[in-house]
Amino acid sequence: MIIKIRDAMNDISRNKSKKKLSELQFRITQQSATEPPFSHEGFEKGTKLFECVCCDSILFKIENKFESGSGWPSFWSPFSAEAITEHKDESYGMVRTEVKCSNCNAHLGHVFEDGPEPTGLRYCINGAALNGKK
Ligand SMILES: [Zn+2]
Repeated sequence: MIIKIRDAMNDISRNKSKKKLSELQFRITQQSATEPPFSHEGFEKGTKLFECVCCDSILFKIENKFESGSGWPSFWSPFSAEAITEHKDESYGMVRTEVKCSNCNAHLGHVFEDGPEPTGLRYCINGAALNGKK
């Protein structure tokens, strides 16, 4: 019974998040799609924080953003170690590390080990999965 209630609540929050998402946001965050490179219009000038488009959790901050030339927003660190979770992704015949929102499990992008110092990491994130906040 408890499990049933929990499932029902999960469904409610899933549906809630579906409602306010665009089709692209839904496909990225819920179905692990990737937006085309250089397709994101960018964030408003003065944006300081980047929130999950599904649940508003703070995922990245401007201090950790860098220009990677990849065509996707890139960060060398998440906002905090707790903000995201990392998962092995072997789809498309590649071994990559998928990055998800730790709060709502939304797919965000992938992390690669060719980023700048101090971490050497490149969090390659779909712009449509993030909301910029000033
Ligand atoms: Zn989230």
